[in-house]
This record gives sequence, structure tokens and C-alpha cells, in this order.
Amino acid sequence: MKLKLCKTCGVPVRIGKDQSWNPDGTITQRRDPDHRMMLFDSEGVDALFTSIEQLIGVPLEKIVIESKARTTCAYISHLMRGFRGTAARAVGLGRIVERVVEQGRVMGYGDIQAVDVRWKERYISINIANPYSILLFCGDQKGAAEAIRKSEGTVTYEEVSPGVFHVVAYNAPHAPGLENRLALKQVPRKPGDIEHELCPRCRVPGGISSFKWGLEQGTIVHEPTGLRYALFGPGGLQAVFDELEGELGESIPDTIIEAQRMHAVTRMRETWREWGAGDFRNWLALRGLGNLVSMESFPGGYTARIENAAVPLLLVGTTIALFEFLIGSRPSSEYSVSEDGDLVMTMRGGQD
Ligand SMILES: [Zn+2]
Repeated sequence: MKLKLCKTCGVPVRIGKDQSWNPDGTITQRRDPDHRMMLFDSEGVDALFTSIEQLIGVPLEKIVIESKARTTCAYISHLMRGFRGTAARAVGLGRIVERVVEQGRVMGYGDIQAVDVRWKERYISINIANPYSILLFCGDQKGAAEAIRKSEGTVTYEEVSPGVFHVVAYNAPHAPGLENRLALKQVPRKPGDIEHELCPRCRVPGGISSFKWGLEQGTIVHEPTGLRYALFGPGGLQAVFDELEGELGESIPDTIIEAQRMHAVTRMRETWREWGAGDFRNWLALRGLGNLVSMESFPGGYTARIENAAVPLLLVGTTIALFEFLIGSRPSSEYSVSEDGDLVMTMRGGQD
């Protein structure tokens, strides 16, 4: 696949064309400014699902796929609100599958190949090598197919060789419609004053050039740490977390925080070793995770406030791991998320 790279910073031109890095610590789609994106360590995502399964002893596959599908379905339905009639929707489906395949590589989702697409039979089969998260990818396929056909579908996947999955999405007959599904919750964003130094040619922040795109493999690798990243919406992951909590109970948020802490402790030390003071704010903003507006110290700890926080539980888990790294032992922590989307975290050192 030929995809143009920016001659100035080396990032695929499409990244800056489709996404905007904003002063409020968010990344949004230029075409749909209400739709947030984040550049997120995707090794962390599958590791997170595995850890949660181990911590609670319940398989998560169905809940993860279903809740991701719901978000994707709502999003694509929103994109398609201008279309009229089934013919137009069929065109839309073609475009969306094409977009999934091409754009998926740019977003770091893996090496995607459409194998068999039969519109009339409402059948799509795809091979994906090295997916960013097989469960989230399956959720996307299911949700996209449902949005266009306006009927409930099914998705199955099978690992046909190591790291290569065959994914099939098809319509399940006589399944209930989508009328009762919940719309995406949106909290209005708060303005910020983060000044990204943007590439003059493609408009992505300079820091993004430390990520390397493998367009053949569909990967994004953060070069200094070797961690794999992907660009996807925080809303989908948040919906998965909300669903897990609704289905499996109140202990889920702490389990998610703990799973993310475990991941960050082992995989992020290299990042933190290179840091200077103040880098946490930039680190968050570059990834579209929110705007760190204050970090106040008191004897033995810190209180941090992040506006427009994306997937707060992951930010809490990451911050606990960061403090654990800085002070050499695990801090005690408290957090709250306000109605308007602010995440406030307090970390205290020297205790367990
Ligand atoms: Zn550039």
C-alpha cells in the first residue's frame, strides 16, 4: 500500500489530515470534532483484558466485543446520518470496509485483508495479522456491519496461525433491532492552553515523529520504548469498562486500575527514565488523554487534576505506577471523576 509520509516529520500525511491535536489535551477527528481519539499503548489493552480475566476469573470476550460494537455502531450511524435509502447504505458499507482496511493500517490496527465481502448475504470476512486488540477489532467489525444494515449481527474469530486471525461478521436473522441501544455519553470539553509545536506541513505535533509507522504491518511503534501504539477512540474503551462494571460489579474499577498499574510498572520505566520535570503534561496531551491543569504537592504527596480526562481508570493506574517509579514504593491513592469530566488524583508516598 502506498501511503504518503510527510516530507518534514515522517508521519503519514493522513494522520494530520484526519486528526487534530487540540490545546485542551484532546485529539479529535477533523471531520467530526466531537469524536475523540487517543494514541494509546495497545499492548496495554490486550494485556489489560487478560489481567482483568485473571484477577476476576471471568471471561471477558463477549462483553468486550458487544460493548465496543455498540460504540462503533453509534459512531458509524452518526457518520451516516446524511445517507438515505438502502442503496446509499450499501455504498456506505463499501466505503466503510475499504476504509477499515486502508485506514486500519494507518491507525496501527494490524495488517488487514478483506477476504470475502458479500453484500447481499450480509457477510464480511477479513484476515488480520498482528491486531492491536483482537477483541476491540471484532467489536468494530460487528458494530460497523450493524450500523449499515440496521440489524443485529454476529462476529466470530479464529486464530488460523500464530498472530493471524480470520474474522467473520454476518447478520444474525430474527435478532432484535438496535432501537433500545444507548447513545454515546458526551461531556462537553473544557478549553485549554496547551501549545503544541505543530509540523508546518502536516500539522501533527513534533513529538509524534518519535512514533514509527509500519504501514505494511499496520503498526505504530514508539521508538524510544519499543511499545506498540494504536489510534482509536477512548469512548469505545470507556464503554467496555462501563459494561464490565455493570455486568460484573463494583470491584471492576479497582481491578482495571490494578491491571493498568501492573502493565505500566513493567512497560513504562524506559519512558519515565527519559523524562524531565513537566513531561507528564506533554505526555498526556500528545496522546490525547487530557489536560493536566494542576499538580500540587503537599508533604508526602501530590494532587493532580486532569481536565478532559480520557479513560480515567487507565490514567489512575498509570499515575500510580509513575509515582511508584519515582518514589520507589507503591503510593496510596484516591481519585474522583466529576460530572464535568475532571479527574482528580491524590497520591501519597511511603504507605501501602
Ligand atoms: Zn509533518
